[in-house]
Amino acid sequence: MAQLPPPPPAIKDPEIKYTQIFINNEWVNSASGKTFPTINPTNGKKICDVQEGDKADIDKAVDAAKKAFEFGSAWQKTDASKRGVLLNKLADLIERDRIYIASLETLDNGKPFKDSFYIDMTATINTLRYYAGWTDKIQGKTIPIDGTFFCYTRHEPVGVCGQIIPWNFPITMMAWKIAPALACGNTVVIKPAEQTPLTALYMAQLIKEAGFPAGVVNVVPGYGPTAGGAISSHPDINKVAFTGSTEVGQLIMQAAAKSNLKRVTLELGGKSPFVVWKDANLDVVVEWAHQAIFFNMGQVCTAGSRTYVHEDIYDEFVKKAVARAKAKTIGDPYDVKSEYGPQVSEEQFNKVLEMIESGKKDGAKLECGGARQGTEGYFVQPTVFSDVTEKMRIGKEEIFGPVQQIIKFKDMEDVIQRANDTKYGLAAAIFTQDLDTAMTFTSRVKAGSVWVNCYNANSPAAPFGGFKMSGVGRELGEYGLQQYTEVKNVVVKTQTKL
Ligand code: ADP
Repeated sequence: MAQLPPPPPAIKDPEIKYTQIFINNEWVNSASGKTFPTINPTNGKKICDVQEGDKADIDKAVDAAKKAFEFGSAWQKTDASKRGVLLNKLADLIERDRIYIASLETLDNGKPFKDSFYIDMTATINTLRYYAGWTDKIQGKTIPIDGTFFCYTRHEPVGVCGQIIPWNFPITMMAWKIAPALACGNTVVIKPAEQTPLTALYMAQLIKEAGFPAGVVNVVPGYGPTAGGAISSHPDINKVAFTGSTEVGQLIMQAAAKSNLKRVTLELGGKSPFVVWKDANLDVVVEWAHQAIFFNMGQVCTAGSRTYVHEDIYDEFVKKAVARAKAKTIGDPYDVKSEYGPQVSEEQFNKVLEMIESGKKDGAKLECGGARQGTEGYFVQPTVFSDVTEKMRIGKEEIFGPVQQIIKFKDMEDVIQRANDTKYGLAAAIFTQDLDTAMTFTSRVKAGSVWVNCYNANSPAAPFGGFKMSGVGRELGEYGLQQYTEVKNVVVKTQTKL
């Protein structure tokens, strides 16, 4: 993995500029007058209060988005290529304010500034620019039918899109959601996660500054069952896109079905197998396996959370993986020496510690970590378990934390069967020097993203999503556009003489 130079100095106490609800390019308070606190996970203290959106605020936002989408609106009349100019302008503004936004992300989420600056900001900017390039290339087809008819398709925007995003990559998830929606000419009502609303609100102001017409993007912070529920059940929202837990994904699909059969795309949980074949270069694979699970403190839906290691190299691998985890530098996420910060919230922190306890009880071997780190904030020690089996909760359930499960396997049949024996199917990886081993695995594993000799190698140009209960539909790439258009078939009777 390439070593990046240190990022520029962070703004350690970034000014909080926006805490209200963004509707129609204006900042407003919640209809109920309620607010909610957003917490700094590094010390458990409140950063500020944010206006708490609820059904009434979602209704207002949907009205604005509907008007912005109407026939003859400024947005509807905007030339397709101009939509690309606006998305590029938004990317420029994020570049301009990159240090500030990355600093704000670290404050609200706890991720190392180095990662906010390099990984999250880069992914955000690249996603906006990628979809900026698509806006005037979203084309239908002409279809030969009976020659006295002219038949063609139009790829039209679906309308008002409700988007519900998680807290693990707050601003990047916002870009993944709004960029394809806007590229296709939709309007948006988006709800950031209640744990991390601040960068989404700042982005709202940049959307206005970039020149998007009023009502095209509306940002309503609030809680899941209230504001999120109002989105998924709203009769005037035509499509809902969600990233989060599988359990909430099921609720969203139910609400969509019951309300108006709105289109649904879901990016959900995972328990992804990371397979270490016997011929893998041990030092290289130990580092990749480590990053696959510990990146973002394990709070990644594609985390390589089942590390399958061939029995011939198992003992050696465990030794090295434990040494790597013990060497991890934990601390102030603004310190560039920190590889690792806190879990996002007290709730997640408690959930991870509870799963660790279950691993100990179920008989997995705790190799290192296994407890809280320090006395302040939500830090969990990097934890490694060996002798894990899929019968244990830690071998089966998503932990969403810094806990590596190392599992021994015998041969290809054994590992394929076990890799696929899960309700999830988000990602998978194999490390091997042998082409046939790699190809056998990639064709038989059931997962939306499969990596060979790498992990989490994502690009805005390549599709992302899950098999089975890891999701519905795909985001990113050309595939992602399909979820944001309706195909209209038009047939014109002509006077063609045959
Ligand atoms: P996590 O458990 O990791 O916090 P969630 O799936 O609960 O993940 O949250 C992801 C997003 O879904 C957040 O924006 C959250 O507010 C929202 N959410 C949670 N519950 C609901 C719900 N019942 N309906 C709609 N959105 C929800």
